[in-house]
Amino acid sequence: MDEERSEGVLRQRNRVRLLDALRHEGTASRSELARLTGLSRTTVGSLVSDLQARGIVIEHDDGERHTGRGRPPVYLSLDRSAGVAVGIDFDHDRVRVALADLSSNVVGEDDTEIDVDHSAANAIDAAVEMVGGLHATADVDEARVVGVGVGLPGPIDRLTGTVGSTFILPGWAGIKAQDVLAERLGARVQVDNDANLGALAEASFGAGRGLSDVVYVRLGSGVGAGLVLGGRLHHGAGGLAGEIGHVQVRPDGAVCRCGNRGCLETIAAEGALRALLRPARGHDVTRRELLSLVASGDLGSTRVVNDAGLAVGRVLADLCNAVNPEALIVGGELAEAGEPLLGGIREAIDRYALPGAARAVKVVHGELGERAELLGALALVTQSTDSLHAIDSETVVQFPDPAPGRTGCPAGGKEAVVAETS
Ligand SMILES: [Zn+2]
Repeated sequence: MDEERSEGVLRQRNRVRLLDALRHEGTASRSELARLTGLSRTTVGSLVSDLQARGIVIEHDDGERHTGRGRPPVYLSLDRSAGVAVGIDFDHDRVRVALADLSSNVVGEDDTEIDVDHSAANAIDAAVEMVGGLHATADVDEARVVGVGVGLPGPIDRLTGTVGSTFILPGWAGIKAQDVLAERLGARVQVDNDANLGALAEASFGAGRGLSDVVYVRLGSGVGAGLVLGGRLHHGAGGLAGEIGHVQVRPDGAVCRCGNRGCLETIAAEGALRALLRPARGHDVTRRELLSLVASGDLGSTRVVNDAGLAVGRVLADLCNAVNPEALIVGGELAEAGEPLLGGIREAIDRYALPGAARAVKVVHGELGERAELLGALALVTQSTDSLHAIDSETVVQFPDPAPGRTGCPAGGKEAVVAETS
C-alpha cells in the first residue's frame, strides 16, 4: 500500500472513531473528543474541520453544560443531515417503518395492517413502498441512508439472515429477508428477531436505560425474550438466545407450533388466554376485549392473565438465576394487561429464583409500547459502527422540522447502549 493511501485509511479510521464518540456523547468539546478518542488535539481539530466542511459536524454553544467561569467552550455534535437510518418492524399483522438521524431522532414514521405471517412478499412490498413515501415526505436523499434495521417475529439465523424456524413463520420459509430488502432498498440491511430489538430499544431509550443487564420479555401472540448482557445484545451461537416461549412447562401439554409439547407459549400466549375464556364468555374473545375485561376488573379474565404471569415468571425465575439481570422489562401486546400480569411474574420470581437474584431484579412495564421493536430496528443501524463508515459523501440531507407527537428521540442518544451489532 503506498504511503498516501495508508494515510487516507488511517485518517478515515480516526474520523470514524471521532464520529463514534460524538454519536455516543451527543455533544462534546474538542478537548473532550481528544480525551475520549485518545487522538491528539491537533488531529481532532483537523478532522473536525473536515467534517464541518462537509456539513456532518456542527458547532454550537451549550450553556447548560458550562458551569465554570470564563469563556464557555465550543461544543460539537453530529448534524441531523449526517446520515439516515431506516427501521422496519414486521409484526404478525402490521408493518411499521421509520426514518431517523444518527442520534436516533425519528424524523418520519408510518404503519399499515397486513398479514405478515403468511405473505412475506406482500409485507416486503408494503414496507418498501412506505419507506419510499417517508423519503419523499421528509425530503431525504436516499443516498444518505447508512443502513436499514429490520425486525421479524421469529428466530433469525445469524449466518443467513433467514427465519430460523419455518414452523414459527411459515410464510417466510426460505426467504432471505436481508438480501431481498438490501436489493430493494439499495442499502446495507441487518435483520433481527423482534424480542431482541425490543430489548435493544428498552435498554437504550426506555425502562432499561443506563442498566447493563436487562431481559426484555415480549408477550403477545407468541412469547419471547431478548437479552442485553454487559450492555450488548446477546444473540447466542445461532441467534436463538432468549427463546423462552419454547421452554417446556407441561410435558403432557398441548402440541406447540414448534413441534414440541407443553411449551410456555401453549399456556401463556394470547391465543391460549383467549381460548381459556371462551367457555365462560360463550364466544371468541378478541385481544381488545380481553384487555378491556382485565381493565374493568373482570375476575375470570384477571385470573387468566395472572396465571399466565405466574407461568412466565416461573420460567423467568430460572433465567434470573442463570443471568442475574437488573431489570425484567415486560412488553408486547399483552403487557397492556398491567398489574395482574406483572404481579404474577413478580410472585413467581420471588418464590422460585434465588433470593439474591430475585432481590436484584426489578420487574417493570416497558416504556416504549408498540414502537419498541421499530425503535430497536433503528438502533441496530444508529449504534452500529458500520453506519459511520457509510458517512462518506459530500451531499447532505435537509430534514424538515419534526412533526409534533410522531417524532423525537425517545430518550436522547447519550445513554444509548453501544452494541456492536455485526
Ligand atoms: Zn414450542
